Amino acid sequence: MSAFSGVWLSQLAAVSLVMYCPFCNAVDTKVIDSRLVAEGNQVRRRRECITCAERFTTFESAELVMPRVMKQNGEREPFNEDKLRAGMLKALEKRPVSLEQVDEAISRINHALRALGEREVSSKLVGETVMQELRRLDEVAYVRFASVYRSFKDLNEFREVIDSMAQDAPGP
Ligand SMILES: [Zn+2]
Repeated sequence: MSAFSGVWLSQLAAVSLVMYCPFCNAVDTKVIDSRLVAEGNQVRRRRECITCAERFTTFESAELVMPRVMKQNGEREPFNEDKLRAGMLKALEKRPVSLEQVDEAISRINHALRALGEREVSSKLVGETVMQELRRLDEVAYVRFASVYRSFKDLNEFREVIDSMAQDAPGP
């Protein structure tokens, strides 16, 4: 096992704290063996329930380490990469950005959110992270996304975004 996968495995272990026993629903289970499978994209774990001593196997993929998204109304939902991609592609419609660039941006977003090490992140933070990436890709897409996402309350707010873009723009 490479050093990299070892580190990754320990990070995954740190976040997947709760795993209910399928036999008795107890929360406390201990991991008796972990190994990477599916070319390192999954961790296969043998677990033993501390309450009933039954053993079972779990397959945990890296998606498990994505924090849950807390919406403004307080509801929580799993991070949804398809939804994220759909939103970005809509903003990027007819813009000169390749699907490969979009995928790279999405993996940077995933990485940034995971790197927070939080179990939950606000939808606002997710939106801001997406906007940063869109801004790197294409400013038109950025403004499109921002105008929908932030649903600018008035023209001044919109103008502030445009102004901040102008300030950041590289000089001639
Ligand atoms: Zn049990």
